[in-house]
Amino acid sequence: MDTDLLIVGGGPAGCAAAVMAASVGMRSVLIESGDALCGALRRIPVVRNVLTATNGPDLAAAIEADLAQCELCRVELGHRATLIDAFDDRVEATVERVEATVDRVEATVERVEATVERVEPVGAAGSARAPGLRLTAPYVVVATGVGPLGPEGAEWLGGMAGRAVPQLWEADPAAIDDRTVLVLGADRPLGTVARAHPELKARFVVAYPPEDAYKTEEVRRDPRVELMAVRRLELGPGSTSAPVTAEVETVAGERRTLTADVAFLNLGSAPAPPAGAVAVDRSGYCPPGGQHPRIFTAGDLRSVRFQRIATAMGSGGEAALGAYYASRDLPMETGGPPTVVGGPPGPAGGG
Ligand SMILES: Cc1cc2nc3c(=O)[nH]c(=O)nc-3n(C[C@H](O)[C@H](O)[C@H](O)COP(=O)(O)OP(=O)(O)OC[C@H]3O[C@@H](n4cnc5c(N)ncnc54)[C@H](O)[C@@H]3O)c2cc1C
Repeated sequence: MDTDLLIVGGGPAGCAAAVMAASVGMRSVLIESGDALCGALRRIPVVRNVLTATNGPDLAAAIEADLAQCELCRVELGHRATLIDAFDDRVEATVERVEATVDRVEATVERVEATVERVEPVGAAGSARAPGLRLTAPYVVVATGVGPLGPEGAEWLGGMAGRAVPQLWEADPAAIDDRTVLVLGADRPLGTVARAHPELKARFVVAYPPEDAYKTEEVRRDPRVELMAVRRLELGPGSTSAPVTAEVETVAGERRTLTADVAFLNLGSAPAPPAGAVAVDRSGYCPPGGQHPRIFTAGDLRSVRFQRIATAMGSGGEAALGAYYASRDLPMETGGPPTVVGGPPGPAGGG
């Protein structure tokens, strides 16, 4: 075994798993495909729902410092896990170098080279299902998060073929000031942009399918935002910058032509776990229940409903503890079903 616990993904979930594992004496190797930990956090200028944190970059720096102090965790940046196999006695992760990352960061190159020497190439082991390096451990925490959805799966959107519409979270605030911005989808980055830039004079015209209505709550009262639940939106011909036109059919059956200076995608996200033994449910997510007993999933990857920093950290810690208790043959659930004591609380709230 290369370590006690493999951790795939170095966001808040994976990092929380690493420090929790260390706290119970487990060694871990954390594989992160990016050139830094917590890349997603670095793009969140304002955070209002995490205790003690006010913005993503500071939180990412604090987590990075915690991991640097964590002697039992070895962080390997610039590596992507492409395959996870699970067996009765172990898990194995196939890991490939991310060349672009390695080329960009010289310091990382040295660390990666060191890893390559330490880990036996799959070819040499003779049982390769995919090219790359192979790491083995008794358990793995998979916390690879989610990535932005493209327009392919959005049946309500037309006119997108061959168009490269940028993601809203990548928008340069200066470039959208004083502009009319067509936002395709009502996902949470809109709230982040609005919260982070109260000074922006942009007008956001947000077209979204009715099933995404619940995502609009945090921007509903922002006077710069015009919400439009649509059955269909057909982007007009031309580029995605000045001017953009779109024909829409609203849920009320009204037909309108929209004109904007620029358009952005804001459709939400989808998980992209490594191939192999990680179980995926019908929604494409990877809930912890139903996984192989040696695989623990954590963070955004688990469900479309719990995609928050604090829940990612909590689930990462739980995943590491799950691996720890399993290594000790201690059941996670203790006792039987909950015992009902007394009746339901009375009007005064009960006791
Ligand atoms: C614009 C925006 C604003 C947000 N604002 C908030 C907010 O205000 N409050 C809040 O609570 N949440 C917010 N979120 C959500 C929050 O960022 C996520 O819930 C949190 O980052 C999830 O943590 P995670 O560790 O599960 O996944 P991530 O942070 O996505 O980390 C996963 C990591 O895994 C790595 N990875 C992926 N695949 C592989 C692989 N195969 N091998 C190795 N590494 C891999 C990725 O590079 C990444 O670093 C926001 C998200 C966005 C996009």
